[in-house]
Amino acid sequence: MVTEIDLRSDTVTRPVPAMREAMAAAPVGDDVYSEDPTVNAVEARVAALVGKEAAMLVSSGTQGNLVSLMTHCQRGDEYIVGQYYHSYRHEAGGAAVLGSIQPQPIPVQDDGTLALADIRAMIKPGDAHFARTRLLALENTWSGRVMPEEFLAGAQQLAREEGLGVHLDGARLFNAAIASGVTVDRLAGYADSVSLCFSKGLGTPIGSIVAGSAEWVARARRWRRIAGGGMRQAGIVAAAMDYALDHHVARLAEDHERARGLAAGLETISGVHAVTVHTNMVHLDVGSDTVGDALRERLAQEGIRIAGGRHIRLVTHLDIDDAAIDAVLDRIGSWLPRLGY
Ligand SMILES: *Cc1c(COP(=O)(O)O)cnc(C)c1O
Repeated sequence: MVTEIDLRSDTVTRPVPAMREAMAAAPVGDDVYSEDPTVNAVEARVAALVGKEAAMLVSSGTQGNLVSLMTHCQRGDEYIVGQYYHSYRHEAGGAAVLGSIQPQPIPVQDDGTLALADIRAMIKPGDAHFARTRLLALENTWSGRVMPEEFLAGAQQLAREEGLGVHLDGARLFNAAIASGVTVDRLAGYADSVSLCFSKGLGTPIGSIVAGSAEWVARARRWRRIAGGGMRQAGIVAAAMDYALDHHVARLAEDHERARGLAAGLETISGVHAVTVHTNMVHLDVGSDTVGDALRERLAQEGIRIAGGRHIRLVTHLDIDDAAIDAVLDRIGSWLPRLGY
């Protein structure tokens, strides 16, 4: 039985034994009464880390974005968002379904940013024909890409001029900070609220955090309750997040390094049409869906899991070491030239 190598996503990591021990040992209380000491400590730690007054544990990144959008926007309000951003495209329409918030999606540029002119053009006039444009939703990293700071500064300036709030989906904000050398509080400082995922590459089984002003988080607690995210002895989860902050953030640099190594190796393989790499994500073009699907099937038989299709996203993470990268390059190098292109 070969060891499984799973490159489909950085969500597949499992808690390491020491993280499980920290979870088992965590002091807990009822977090809906704000009485879980481990949750309270992690919320305070993350608030300080991202430079916000307060923070709140949520069960998932999707719940964090939903609660954030509902805290910024009321029924009949609108948020402007990239059409390929998670908070529009990958959250099952939750903002519209549960929040009665109108999304205004706009194109995403190749570097993951939005064109400021596109944002401005979509802000609605303030009369009764229109939804009230309230919020700009950003995402850093997007598809592994780190948002340039000049864009973040420009978007913040625009939002201030137009009276919009800014929410940053920072599911992988630690990756952006590590890759750019810019601190997370500086990156989060361009937004009024930020959400962070601890189950993306950081190895926790569950858990996300949203942060913002104390007043904003107090209102967000009500929406979290409505969204079913008021958890009880959640210190078990918060302890895993605390462990991840201590042990799994700085090492994200290794994931980025391995992604670069993987990309460099892939470029030498015949049958590879194009490769790009950003932070911990490698995008591989194998020319057709048929080839990509056949490659997925072949590798699966050898204990290597990848997504199929023509454009394959390979994601490095905590459970991918140098030997795994070598094995993947060896097996793709063996199969891809034989699958035809
Ligand atoms: C994964 C992810 C989320 C949240 O997803 P969950 O599956 O709910 O944890 C939000 N935004 C981005 C950019 C993500 O990659």
